[in-house]
Amino acid sequence: MKKYNIGIDLGGTKVLCALIEKETNKILFSVKKKTKKEKGNKKVFTKLTEAIDELFEISKTDKDEISSIGIAIAGQVDRKEGILINACNLQCKNLNLKKEIEEKYNIKTYLANDVEAATIAELLLGAGKGYKNILCVFVGTGIGSCLVIDGKIYHGATGSAGELGHVVVDLNGRSCNCGAAGCLEAYASRSAIESRIQGAIKKGRSSIITEFCDGQNISTKHIKKSLDAHDEVVSQFVNEAIEYLSGGLASAINFFNPELVILGGGLIQGIDEIYLKTIRLAKNKALSITSSKTEFKKAQLEDYSGVIGASLIEEYRLCKK
Ligand SMILES: [Zn+2]
Repeated sequence: MKKYNIGIDLGGTKVLCALIEKETNKILFSVKKKTKKEKGNKKVFTKLTEAIDELFEISKTDKDEISSIGIAIAGQVDRKEGILINACNLQCKNLNLKKEIEEKYNIKTYLANDVEAATIAELLLGAGKGYKNILCVFVGTGIGSCLVIDGKIYHGATGSAGELGHVVVDLNGRSCNCGAAGCLEAYASRSAIESRIQGAIKKGRSSIITEFCDGQNISTKHIKKSLDAHDEVVSQFVNEAIEYLSGGLASAINFFNPELVILGGGLIQGIDEIYLKTIRLAKNKALSITSSKTEFKKAQLEDYSGVIGASLIEEYRLCKK
């Protein structure tokens, strides 16, 4: 009986690689490496294998004890073939990770998108346990979401279902990273709040946030500190984002009628006020009958949802076949 899985979270700026005990889903050892400068297929692959090698070294585990390697990636993946199709932040394209990792380590390897992996973690171990129809929404730099229908993640025709962040909320609106205009992500993500605050400061409005950071790299922590200090500028744009986010959620609830909405991501996990107000407004905005049985929960696995979810891809895929 193989006792462990390796879960890997391959993000835009770091790779987190963890040895996880299958029985308890506990992280026993982990290795974190920055990928800020290492871009492109070759360099990213090297970084990834360095992290795996180091994990074997520090944990003194044998390859025979590992059941699977799961990789959660911030980008598009071909789940069946295990190919990383495109990850903008890593400048990787058409990288056959499954084949390459399996050849190198002789361990079954699975790939998932990071939002999918986080959803698997919540579904099997976290807030989604015991529910069948779930909408998961993660709000951070962008807005990622995932639909669970009858206990199974719904992927859609091209594997990209659940793009709530790119639902259009203003036809003539702000431009979005995806190239379209007026997407929810351009109004309700942390980046949206950040650029609104920066714009106001540029126009001469004063905000306490400039005491916490240079105004260029605004984090959730800076936003929280400014809200706690009742800063007018930050409160205004956070409230604006909540209005849009709750509107987007209400639309999704009306459309999908889920029994549970799981909210996660840095902005939700970091600022309770945003989480609670978003729920209240989303309930008000949704049709009353449709939302009457919708529960809301905060994601439970937080920062480790990527590695834990990745380590569970094998189990999830085998039982949902
Ligand atoms: Zn978009």
